[in-house]
Amino acid sequence: MAWRSLRLGGERANVLARVPGPSSARRRGAVAAFDLDDTLVETWSGAPPWRRRSGADWTWRYASVPQRLREEARAGRALVVFSNQSHVRSAHHGKAAAKLKKVVDAVARELDLTPEQGGLAFVAATQKDAYRKSIQGELWAVYEELFGISVDIRNSFYVGDAAGRESDFGSGDADFARARGVRFMTPEEYFMDAAPDGSSSP
Ligand SMILES: [Mg+2]
Repeated sequence: MAWRSLRLGGERANVLARVPGPSSARRRGAVAAFDLDDTLVETWSGAPPWRRRSGADWTWRYASVPQRLREEARAGRALVVFSNQSHVRSAHHGKAAAKLKKVVDAVARELDLTPEQGGLAFVAATQKDAYRKSIQGELWAVYEELFGISVDIRNSFYVGDAAGRESDFGSGDADFARARGVRFMTPEEYFMDAAPDGSSSP
């Protein structure tokens, strides 16, 4: 599995990406896209994700996560995770990056996607710069560039917990979906079939 460290528009490494091999699923452009921490996974230790104890300090956020993701893969959507991991900074070969890679590789192993389904792609902003998920949406362009594709807007969506609700720490995930024009859902909506929270709507 190819992990790639990218240095985009600056001096320091700022995007860390897991790039599975080419597949017809990914070429079609329909993506099921997700935030990582507190959307797909959480720490079992209770530590904040940027202080997870080890690469094994993770568990599914909802029991239905693996099943739902496999369903999306079977429906022909390529799976991709977009993540802000600014604690990694430019140390893409350091300890924090190693832990993060272990978590993502373990998630991918559990999902057990076929090569034809495109595997699990992961694209993370590791600096507090313009590549962080925001209304600018730079990581979408990074993803499209890495795989030489264009996202099929109408058949794609993005799920994340930073939805701008009162208890959320921000709206970076909702903004990020809007930046590319894909449907946004909170983890509760997507995994728990909860009603959309009014405060996350524009
Ligand atoms: Mg999150």
